[in-house]
Amino acid sequence: MVSRVIPVDPFDLVIFGGTGDLAKRKILPGLYRRFLGGQMPADSRIIGGARADLTDEAYRAMVAAAIDEFVPPDRKNPEVITDFLARISYVSIDATVEGGWEKLKTLVRPGVVRAFYFSVAPALFGDLAEKLHQHGIADTTCRIVVEKPFGRDLASAKALNATLAKYFTEDQIYRIDHYLGKETVQNLMAVRFANILFEPLWKAEYVDHVQITVAETVGVNGRGAYYDTSGAMRDMIQNHMMQLLCLIAMEPPYHFDPAAVRDEKLKVIRALDAVKPSDIVRGQYLAGGGEGGYVEHSENPNSKTESYLALKVSVSNWRWKGTPFYLRTGKRLRARTSEIAITFKEPPHSIFDETSGWKENVLVIRLQPNEGMDLLVMIKEPGPGGMRLTQVPLDMSFADALGEDAEDVPDAYERLIMDVIRGNQTLFMRGDEVEAAWAWTDPIIQGWEARGHKPQGYDPGSSGPEDALMLMHRDGRRWREIKG
Ligand code: NAD
Repeated sequence: MVSRVIPVDPFDLVIFGGTGDLAKRKILPGLYRRFLGGQMPADSRIIGGARADLTDEAYRAMVAAAIDEFVPPDRKNPEVITDFLARISYVSIDATVEGGWEKLKTLVRPGVVRAFYFSVAPALFGDLAEKLHQHGIADTTCRIVVEKPFGRDLASAKALNATLAKYFTEDQIYRIDHYLGKETVQNLMAVRFANILFEPLWKAEYVDHVQITVAETVGVNGRGAYYDTSGAMRDMIQNHMMQLLCLIAMEPPYHFDPAAVRDEKLKVIRALDAVKPSDIVRGQYLAGGGEGGYVEHSENPNSKTESYLALKVSVSNWRWKGTPFYLRTGKRLRARTSEIAITFKEPPHSIFDETSGWKENVLVIRLQPNEGMDLLVMIKEPGPGGMRLTQVPLDMSFADALGEDAEDVPDAYERLIMDVIRGNQTLFMRGDEVEAAWAWTDPIIQGWEARGHKPQGYDPGSSGPEDALMLMHRDGRRWREIKG
């Protein structure tokens, strides 16, 4: 299969925080890959901006080292790397003080698409927006890209939206949630809305329940102090997992465009019921496997921050009334895996007897590892021995389907940055979506704080706290096994 690469228009992309971890690991290697793939036009420029006092040469050397470290060997082409680096320059700039802005103004060309990536702490977003405006660097045709976390509650998200709105309109603001840039996540929309097969069954009448799992094997390691201000609810559920839930639960948009898709996602968030405390399990990993527990990594030995969260969520609308969505996420779990599993109901009447071995149909959407989809269906067990049933996967692994081209599939950041340049906001969160998500999470977090709720300990390498099993068992259901 030959992938079709359509070059975007020439652009100038300014990366504030251009020396940071995210720029080095994702943004710059991603741009290199799009250059290698022929999607980033030669007449484009990348300008790194950060506080460090660096020459263009020193910054290019840093970018070259990032490409060396984070791009797979078979994608490293020395000539292309040299060409790519020639498109990069640097300006030393501090968001909070004057100096460097006039130089930046001379570097950004008015005749091309101009985007400013705010890959810095959110506390600096306002300063950056103001300086860009004051110095006449950004106008109404520019775009800004902002990173998570977008607020830590409804009030701070509203304040952040209001700050950005002073200088930019909503159609200029691209709030990144890299989960939306994943191939499989977009494929979920293709599978739902480009096939007649699934949509008739995509409702409470036929769907027993949905499970969304994001499991990590790593702990918080050096990020304990930061994570203590966040926790699994703010770090994972409010943004990434909420977005996945929206894409599964939303009504078909009238068109695949930013307004239509985001309107439908917003309706889902607004239809979420408040979650009862009995439908929530919070966990915190204990010491084990030669590593300290969560509290050893936190600066607070009495930290009550959750490193695991499981929730039973209801979407109160005609389509989903009675179909629970179970969400779970955690660190230091048995395996690293992210998946969505849609479990369908039993056929209304079985013609097979109870010993036949019947199991439910499940559509599994794997985000990692091995992105793809499995549809688990029942067939007859081959061979003699009567009518015995067995469950087999109809496997739609993208790596298999795409063959050698699988390596060319852009990663989430690459795709999203190209969407910014194209001016397509479909896969970015709108301000009202973010606020609605916080409006749903705030009371849950406030309830824990008011009650001084302490998370349940769980062993590293396990599938989470015991109570999380009960959350499903009491409904007569089981979590899918966490396996890599
Ligand atoms: P980092 O600490 O590694 O880098 C921060 C960057 O900001 C550096 O380039 C630094 O020079 C620059 N900076 C700091 N203060 C500045 C100032 N006053 N003016 C101008 N530049 C300044 O951070 P990071 O990990 O690259 O994260 C950047 C943003 O992306 C943060 O908002 C973070 O929450 C978000 N994010 C990061 C990741 C990740 O994997 N690293 C993932 C998701 C979101």
